Amino acid sequence: MSAELICFERACRTRYSVTDVLYNCPKCGGLLEVSYDFSRIDAGGLRQLWRQRRMSNHPLDQSGVWRYREIIPFLDDPAHAITLREGCTPLLDAPRAAEYGGLRRLTFKHQGFNPTGSFKDNGMTCGAAQARRLGMRRVACVSTGNTSASMAAYAAAGGLQAVIFIPHGNISYGKLAQALEYGALTFQVEANFDQILKLVRVLAERLGIYLLNSINPFRIEGQKSIVVEMMDQRDWNPPDWIVLPGGNLGNVSAFGKALRELRDCGFIGRIPKLAVIKAEGASPFHHFMKDPSRDSFHAVEHPETLATAIKIGDPVSWPKAWQEVAVSGGLTEEAGEKEIADAKAVIGLCGIGCEPASAATLAGIRKLTGAGVIDRDADVIAVLTGNVLKDPDYIYKYHTGQLTDPGGSAIEALFGNRPVVVPNDPGRIAALLG
Ligand SMILES: *Cc1c(COP(=O)(O)O)cnc(C)c1O
Repeated sequence: MSAELICFERACRTRYSVTDVLYNCPKCGGLLEVSYDFSRIDAGGLRQLWRQRRMSNHPLDQSGVWRYREIIPFLDDPAHAITLREGCTPLLDAPRAAEYGGLRRLTFKHQGFNPTGSFKDNGMTCGAAQARRLGMRRVACVSTGNTSASMAAYAAAGGLQAVIFIPHGNISYGKLAQALEYGALTFQVEANFDQILKLVRVLAERLGIYLLNSINPFRIEGQKSIVVEMMDQRDWNPPDWIVLPGGNLGNVSAFGKALRELRDCGFIGRIPKLAVIKAEGASPFHHFMKDPSRDSFHAVEHPETLATAIKIGDPVSWPKAWQEVAVSGGLTEEAGEKEIADAKAVIGLCGIGCEPASAATLAGIRKLTGAGVIDRDADVIAVLTGNVLKDPDYIYKYHTGQLTDPGGSAIEALFGNRPVVVPNDPGRIAALLG
């Protein structure tokens, strides 16, 4: 199976070797994507093979990414793959969240069940494999947290050195702690995400370090598996809607590419609508999508949201996201800080839990059903992108009434749940318990 890199820009479409170290098209600066010749793919046979691999003890078959390797065939030698058994994440029914979101039924696909607790692992296993295949010794990323946690783990597992750049003071401790524990060289830079990304691109080129940010097209290939596994779990019946939070917009790009390829190869009959939910303070893509044209994208210089994983003012993958949302017939929405915080608590009350960015999905669904855009009877899957333990500080503050929005105003917690201090006295405690 021959794989190539191809410029995403329709006016360019220049092709490059899959072993060229490129992040953007050298000719026009456009985004790159991996392209394959899928003309001989046998959807029926692969559905069976992929199902059988769930019984296998082979490490690559146990991975919810590499199990589907025929749809991400960019490696010539599978020995380059580095797996921590990523993917394999559940579909969970959540009646209480459904009710809150104005739906009869709602299913979460919970990517927080991944080895480092976010969907970044689905992509990083592929990005790290490509780094090894290229003979790279060092990998780098700039990150709001989860990318660095994931890259640090896969680099360590694959014998690569990880170099991480994070915005000083803008990352949750859970994520920073992971990067340190997995042994990454970690720089905290006095700048925001978008500024640091520019810095790191200069350094990567100068020092020959392989860049594993979400513009890396091989990470996008890995993230396709989220949707492939979702369809496999549903016996190839697409839902009406797939709802996900948007930051740099790599994930929606991956979902769209996966859905198009699955349809073109005959795995699914139609493409579900993609709904991307942004945080209000970091929402340039939502504003763009109200009236999209080639020159009308305006970055937000100072993005603000407590949902740090989507605190991105200049999302690099917006041109891909634009195409994928449009092809799916989908849309974008934005959610405020209180809306995200309360939705997150409701997801917690389902016994599921997630990090703040993930809860933008339920907050967005509630607005979209309220506006009559998503039907109450619709078949909806919301993708929870990160684990509940990623940001415990946020949770404690919410439940004890101390959470404030980026402007400093208190967020009134609709579902607050304070711990109760009691004396060591069975009588008093029994009285409290009624
Ligand atoms: C990275 C991340 C996002 C945003 O994904 P993009 O691909 O950047 O749009 C959302 N939620 C969590 C938990 C993340 O780690």
